[in-house]
Amino acid sequence: MSSSESGAFAVPADLNALAPHIWPAGAARSTATGVVSVRGHDVRELARDFHTPAYVLDEVEFRDRIGQWKSAFAQATDGNADVYYAGKAFLCSAVVRWLDDEGINLDVCTAGELAVALRAGFEPHRILMHGNNKSTSELRQAVMAGVGLVVVDSFEEIARLAHIAGESDVVQSVLVRVTVGVEAHTHEFIATAHEDQKFGFSLSGGQALEAVRRIHKLPALELAGLHSHIGSQIFSTDGFEVAAHRLAEFLVQVRDVCGVELPLLDLGGGLGIAYTETDEPQAPQLIAQQLTAIVSAECARSGLAMPRILVEPGRAIAGPTTMTLYEVGTIKTVELDDGLSRTYVSVDGGMSDNIRPSLYDADYTCSLVSRSSTADPMLVRVVGKHCETGDVVVKQAWLPADLAPGDLLAVAATGAYGRSMASNYNHVPRPPVVAVSEDSARLIVRRETVEDILALDVD
Ligand SMILES: *Cc1c(COP(=O)(O)O)cnc(C)c1O
Repeated sequence: MSSSESGAFAVPADLNALAPHIWPAGAARSTATGVVSVRGHDVRELARDFHTPAYVLDEVEFRDRIGQWKSAFAQATDGNADVYYAGKAFLCSAVVRWLDDEGINLDVCTAGELAVALRAGFEPHRILMHGNNKSTSELRQAVMAGVGLVVVDSFEEIARLAHIAGESDVVQSVLVRVTVGVEAHTHEFIATAHEDQKFGFSLSGGQALEAVRRIHKLPALELAGLHSHIGSQIFSTDGFEVAAHRLAEFLVQVRDVCGVELPLLDLGGGLGIAYTETDEPQAPQLIAQQLTAIVSAECARSGLAMPRILVEPGRAIAGPTTMTLYEVGTIKTVELDDGLSRTYVSVDGGMSDNIRPSLYDADYTCSLVSRSSTADPMLVRVVGKHCETGDVVVKQAWLPADLAPGDLLAVAATGAYGRSMASNYNHVPRPPVVAVSEDSARLIVRRETVEDILALDVD
């Protein structure tokens, strides 16, 4: 669009700059050539070797982030915490090995995610499985594999899991998923009396207490604690404070009714990252200190011993590590009613490799990466190649006015819920994930082929 609307979206001081809190830590633009590289790998070479679109993942940053979350919680709690990476953000064998190397645990929610972890040799006791409708087969696979914790989500599941564990002579440790009546999203959170959503047992209606009572009576299940997950892309700990308050009250009820103090308190994930200039995520150290202080204050007030804190960051580990590399295909400008115009830049991917703009109206930041430019800024909308008007990659972005077909464009912060939510819409093969470090640029997930897609078509 142009001037009248651009007030809401300021022209950046330098179109060639890559804001460090948005772009992968290893991404840098060469002052000599203007070309962006990640950990020293020139994007033009990455595009030549792996083709576009491609997810380019900074392995060094991924490992760093795992380490930061681990040490932040270890320090804040004196070692009384476990970090579980939420595999649904992005999971493959390489990621599983990095988790293992750096020493954190893994949260899965389906048999598929469990299979990736087990095939990569991850110790099952460090895996937690959640989900609101795990099938009998998924529960059986989890129990047989020796998964450390199963988060139970419904009365049916309590009965199913007890039956499966009993049959296998296993005592399965479980957490009870409780809905605490807090909904957090980005900068806001809403505290409500009851939760109108599909997950877990509500605290308010007495469901959660009934669930705890039932589990407590079942010899095949060992009640280890509570699990709560209040939302996603959260920037402040206010929502967690209300959640912790309600959880602590409930822990007191459990103690009074069942005579046990539960040792584990899982606060879930949902910690935010920067997609655009206006997002300001907090450092893991600060979040760990705040969450620990909140739980500790609530427990002290209720006369409870401090439980072991579990957290499940997904996006905050995977998201910032990755950018998607696209090639610009077509550029067109349309005149709008009131003398305004809009420039559409079409790239060779779209909603099949990043559904978040169309699904959640999510904002992203992009940059011309195959060269720098001194041209004036133009306000554009980056769109994909799919047969859908809503196939938007970046709703509004400032790009240099000399942008041309063949240029490489990168979209930042696509590491979480990008590849993991990718689809084959329009029979477009899903892009590869290329992990880069100083030593190498290598495929960790290969590109899907048309043959892969045709192989599913069996009649
Ligand atoms: C989605 C999810 C997470 C991870 O959320 P992020 O926003 O990626 O941190 C953690 N725990 C549960 C139960 C989830 O459903």
